[in-house]
Amino acid sequence: MSVGKDVITYLAENDWLNENAKRWGTKIGARAITAGTTMTELTPVVQKLNYAGLSTTIVYLGDGLYEKAGALDVKEQYLDLIHLIQEKALDATVTLQLTQLGLDIDFDFCYENVKEIVSEAYNYGVQVTIEMEDYGHVQPSFLMLEQLKEEYDNVGTVIQAYFYRAEEDIKKYKDVPIRLVKGAYDEPISVAYQTKEEIYTNYKKLLFEQLQNGIFTSIATHDQEIIAEVKQFVQQREIPLDAFEFQFLYGFDQQLQEQLVGEGYACSVYVPYGEEWYSYFMNRLAERPQNITKKVFNKKTNTVLATVAGAFVLGSLWGRRKNK
Ligand SMILES: Cc1cc2nc3c(=O)[nH]c(=O)nc-3n(C[C@H](O)[C@H](O)[C@H](O)COP(=O)(O)OP(=O)(O)OC[C@H]3O[C@@H](n4cnc5c(N)ncnc54)[C@H](O)[C@@H]3O)c2cc1C
Repeated sequence: MSVGKDVITYLAENDWLNENAKRWGTKIGARAITAGTTMTELTPVVQKLNYAGLSTTIVYLGDGLYEKAGALDVKEQYLDLIHLIQEKALDATVTLQLTQLGLDIDFDFCYENVKEIVSEAYNYGVQVTIEMEDYGHVQPSFLMLEQLKEEYDNVGTVIQAYFYRAEEDIKKYKDVPIRLVKGAYDEPISVAYQTKEEIYTNYKKLLFEQLQNGIFTSIATHDQEIIAEVKQFVQQREIPLDAFEFQFLYGFDQQLQEQLVGEGYACSVYVPYGEEWYSYFMNRLAERPQNITKKVFNKKTNTVLATVAGAFVLGSLWGRRKNK
């Protein structure tokens, strides 16, 4: 059976399931797309990718936080992660989400947390990428980037091609490493392109300008049409292969990653780890429900998801009746 996108999205946002998923562990198949819950589990995953010629960017999973104590814990995790990268000589950078570090609590509090991470990373030669979240967080994230880059050159960010503002932003931040993505959040027509074609066209426009102008870009897409066009574009214009990299989510398109590495292209893998794997896992399923039936998710996963979906539907029906 296949589980629809709406059901999966509901499941991803369900607090009870989110909390209880930790008890089931990552048995339901999340280990196929996350690197476990601890740094001990993370390390061999990254080493294996490095051994296959892939660099990595590591992200500590979690949602936005509204308590300072939680944000401080996340900061400590990142400091430990930077030390791990150095100790184990991992080919890795780090990616962080500002709302996990207190952006929704207080800008200055968040800035101090991020600055401590970026500064420690700078000392160890580790690159940091500030992830871009929904539109409401975009402007404060750029503001934070501007403040950080006055002191540090090891910090970059993400441009989401679905935003109308992306063209202006990518020009404005041409001196920082950019990860170019299409954009993952539901955004209104007032700020973002809506159709697949418009987003695809803008992505390619921004990307080819970057490549033409020799600005290092992480091309973060699973879109094979774009990947094929990039290959053609750089070959025709003799753009050096170290002027960009392809970036993939851990666990997806592994064959393609290996093929690209074999062809001499730089590839990096976005490796998520941490206790809060459940909503990341479910959101990846929601983006692409057909993956449930692909090899990355086993038969057991389908059974568990189907059971969970069934339990959830029954539970919500029961909840509705109870509230009557
Ligand atoms: C490394 C990385 C980092 C990201 N960071 C951010 C961020 O900071 N902020 C943000 O808003 N978004 C981020 N995203 C998500 C991004 O914005 C898109 O939502 C997501 O990548 C889907 O767009 P796409 O171009 O990959 O493919 P789509 O436009 O969804 O699909 C195009 C085609 O690509 C193929 N495809 C798509 N997904 C998969 C898959 N999982 N497996 C196999 N084939 C697939 C299919 O053939 C599909 O028809 C990130 C994505 C990646 C890969």
